[in-house]
Amino acid sequence: MCFTFVLLAASASVVPCVALAHHQEVHAWAESFLVPDSTELTVPSEGDLERFRHFLYDVWSKSPVIGSRFKKLYPTFTSFDAREFKRFLGLSLEHPVPGIDVVGPVLDSLRLAQWACAQPDEGMNQDNWLYDDSGGLITDRWGRPVPFDPASAQMGGISGLVSQAYAHYQLCPGPKTDDFDILASHPERFASPPDVKTYAAHFAQVFADLAVLARMSDSPASRYLYVLFRGYSHHFILDGSDHFHTVQVGSRKFFVDALKQSLWFNTISAGGLFFRVPSLVTIGVRIISNHHLLGENLYAAWLSGMIPRDGIHDRAQEALKEGDSILKRRMKALGCPSPAAECTFLGTMLASSLSCTDARQAYELVSELAVPEISSWDVKVPDSLDAVRKYIVWPVPVEQADHFEKLMNQSMARFSVVVRITDQSLEEVISHQEVLTVAVRLGKRLMDYQEDCRQRRASYVPQPPEKTGVNWWYPAAELWFINLLLLIYPLRRIIISGRKRTSS
Ligand SMILES: [Zn+2]
Repeated sequence: MCFTFVLLAASASVVPCVALAHHQEVHAWAESFLVPDSTELTVPSEGDLERFRHFLYDVWSKSPVIGSRFKKLYPTFTSFDAREFKRFLGLSLEHPVPGIDVVGPVLDSLRLAQWACAQPDEGMNQDNWLYDDSGGLITDRWGRPVPFDPASAQMGGISGLVSQAYAHYQLCPGPKTDDFDILASHPERFASPPDVKTYAAHFAQVFADLAVLARMSDSPASRYLYVLFRGYSHHFILDGSDHFHTVQVGSRKFFVDALKQSLWFNTISAGGLFFRVPSLVTIGVRIISNHHLLGENLYAAWLSGMIPRDGIHDRAQEALKEGDSILKRRMKALGCPSPAAECTFLGTMLASSLSCTDARQAYELVSELAVPEISSWDVKVPDSLDAVRKYIVWPVPVEQADHFEKLMNQSMARFSVVVRITDQSLEEVISHQEVLTVAVRLGKRLMDYQEDCRQRRASYVPQPPEKTGVNWWYPAAELWFINLLLLIYPLRRIIISGRKRTSS
């Protein structure tokens, strides 16, 4: 049986992804270089949030371009309450989102930017489920929630941290295949299913547009909401620029390791007869997750000083200051900065297309920097900077560490280019008071997304829960093998004694 077949059969066409943060320390650290100076801000009250929502409702409902489509969804302002606004933005109804349905913390502009940049990992895209008109949760035949966007089920899962992967990954743009053989040469071209959708660039653009609309609104808290939403947008830009968020499976090596362990566990447990064996996909996801986490946390531990690394701050600052020249050129070729273009979306997609080609290197470098145990099912690397020391090789291999840092600094350089060009683009919008241009493109993007989700739900087939029973092929094969041995031994004795008699 060929390797590809074994894996495809086991994967059931879905590869759950790890939906972890590009560590919050990194987000906050990068943000401190992008906020020029700190000022006091007026924190919006609940009334201010409602006024901002009303402002958006008026602009969208009165637009000659999208007004009639929008009013079909929300005929009156009362039908567009905070819950419906979240739904319209494609965010989870299970978690509060500061600035949308709850008020945010009292912070100055720098600290708010740092806080906001890490906030999207706190639940806004997790447990994003479907409800009926009376607010009841819709479930599948196994009693599990139906996702609002089935892309979440395909990318990670329907509940918990993994359910945000679809919104925080930006897989390499372009066609992909679920043939595992491609992992040997171009893992960035692998996806299962091949048409799986990811939305980091989309959410980066949504929050960038929301930020600039907040700034142009007449709310007394417009400045606060601008900093808050801009921070949310930066989170998604950095996720989309981060190598670990641009591929589903970073290296073929991970699945070879998973396959070996699956065969071993199944053999010694007689296919799960003597103890429960994790599925091949579960083992594979654990290995990928360990590498993903350790890679991000190692870079964060260097930046935070928890693990000393000479000159890393200077080099990372330089990357943020200089930016990525290739990305700059490519964004310029697409007309950015321009008030009319969706430069945040375009820039994040371009950043992903550059980072994904080095993603295998990033994953394999983590493998070389780490102890071999992180490739085992029974080792779970925690999401903590304290744990990094335990799982990396000491002394740290110099060449691999240098190369890994260079890749991580590159993702910072790409993030910085997208942020700066987005800022220029938004400043032009503000100076020309292009409220309608931005409102219409945002409204259209959100309604198109709603329609895409509706279509995906129409063809959504929930995966059955993972089987926990015994794989009887293993005990059957082992019994057959033992019988064969029992048969061979007496036969061999008969043949040997027969030979002896003939020779005597
Ligand atoms: Zn994230």
